[in-house]
Parts: sequence; C-alpha cells; structure tokens
Amino acid sequence: MNILDKIKLGKILLSDGAWGTLLQAQGMNPGECPELWNITHRKEVLGIAKSYLLSGSDIIGTNSFGGSISKLSQYGLEGRVRELNEAAAAISREAAGNNRHVAGSVGPTGKMLLMGDVTENELYDGFCQQVIALEKGGADIIIIETMSAIDEASLAVRAARENTRCTVIITMTFERNGKGDFHTMMGVSPEEMVISMKDAGAHIVGSNCGNGMEEMIGVVNAIRAIDKTIPVIIQANAGIPEYIDGKTVFRESPEMMASFVPELLKAGVNIIGGCCGTTPEHIKVFSKVLSDSF
Ligand SMILES: [Zn+2]
Repeated sequence: MNILDKIKLGKILLSDGAWGTLLQAQGMNPGECPELWNITHRKEVLGIAKSYLLSGSDIIGTNSFGGSISKLSQYGLEGRVRELNEAAAAISREAAGNNRHVAGSVGPTGKMLLMGDVTENELYDGFCQQVIALEKGGADIIIIETMSAIDEASLAVRAARENTRCTVIITMTFERNGKGDFHTMMGVSPEEMVISMKDAGAHIVGSNCGNGMEEMIGVVNAIRAIDKTIPVIIQANAGIPEYIDGKTVFRESPEMMASFVPELLKAGVNIIGGCCGTTPEHIKVFSKVLSDSF
C-alpha cells in the first residue's frame, strides 16, 4: 500500500534514526565519503538498514544524504552519482523487502543560489540525476532532508515530482530565534515551508535535525496552525549536541525522547523518526510507545 494511503487510514508510521554514527561505529573514518561505502562496504551498510527494520521502522532511509553531484565532487566522485545512489537504494530495498518503504535520502548540496554558487538549472539537473537513480535502485519515497533554503528545496521537490513516481517528503531544519519563533538558517518559518513546498508538489512536510523531540512539538504546532491535513514527519535529534573531549555527544536516551511521543501525536504528527544521535534502540522504544498508545 502507498504510504499516503496508510496515513489516510490513520496509521502512525515509524522511520529510522541516524546513519552517520553507525557507519563510524563500523569503522568509517572522518574524511571518507559515506556514499562510497555503498560499494566498498555493502555488507556493513546493509547491516545498518536491517538494524532499523528489526527495531520496527516502517520506512528506512538510504545512505545517500551526501549523494548530490556537488557533495560527491569533493571526493572526486562526481562521475559516480548514479552508481552510488542506485546502490544506496538497492541496499535499503534488499533489507526492507516489499512490505516496507524505502526513502531515498537527498541532502543539501552545499551550494547557494543566493550567493551565485550555482544556477537553478545546474541544481535541478543534479537533483534529477540523484532522484532518478534512487528510484531505479528501489526507493518508493524521496526524502529531501535538512534543507534551509526555499529555492534549493523547491528545485529538489520539483526534480523528484517531475522525474519519479515516488512519494516526496521534504524536511527543513529549524531553530528558535530570539523571539522564540522557529526559522531555518536562511530565515524560513515552518508556515512558509508548508506553503512553498506544497506549491512545489511535496506530499509530506516536516522537520529533521536541529532540535530534540520536545522542541519539535512546537514545530508541528506551527505547521498545523496553517495546514490541518498535510502529512507531517518529525525526525528529531537525541537532544542538543554537547562537545566532550572533541567529540559531539547526544545525550537524550530513547526513553527521554519517547516520553514526548504522545504530545507529538496530539499535535498532529504522522511519521516519527530520529536524526543525529538516534540509534536503533531509540526507534525500538518509539515503536513500543506507539503500540501502547493504540
Ligand atoms: Zn541531524
């Protein structure tokens, strides 16, 4: 069944947690290209996907967050966009089988239209390459994540809508400004996100990263204040990062994060997952809370 039909039936769906930290735990060194691991360490990447599915994820992401041509070119891999993204989706599809969903992950390119780093056509063409390869590898969803600029996010959503049959999710990263309102780094509010991303063709909107679970309740409220029906996804960090001995540490335990799930549900969320610092253990505890609340 299509994910949008499941949501229409009132199902609350679970996505996955962080991948980067799990790749590091498998031995990936700083400075390595994570997406290259889809070829060189296929078994390890498959193991990460499986660990989330075993924890109860209905939707599993792909190891392709940095799979845009501009990010891959930093490693001299600009000629391998199709290969690395297709492999990413194929690995997650192998783990998910046919009954669960594969969400092909698309992250920011690091290029800004505003600064003249890149043209609209270049950005659009780059996103097209990536999303077509993700669908070919087996993704039934494209998730465009950690976005902060409307123009870049719109081009990514349009690329996915115009070139694939996938359900399209877009999530932006918000922080509170001095007045307590949520804005992205580029000044976009949750309300502006909903209006412009619906206009670009997104099926599902929401937020990932930047905040822990508690703050995300406010983000959902802001979205629901202007749109009662669009499906909403939240993928929170395991709290605010702390820097200890040169390392970034996220301290929120699965239980702490899960304690906010009932309030998130009340606010009107449809899909819950995790971002930085979350693990299969977090997803397992979310899953338990969800099954207890229905
Ligand atoms: Zn994150």
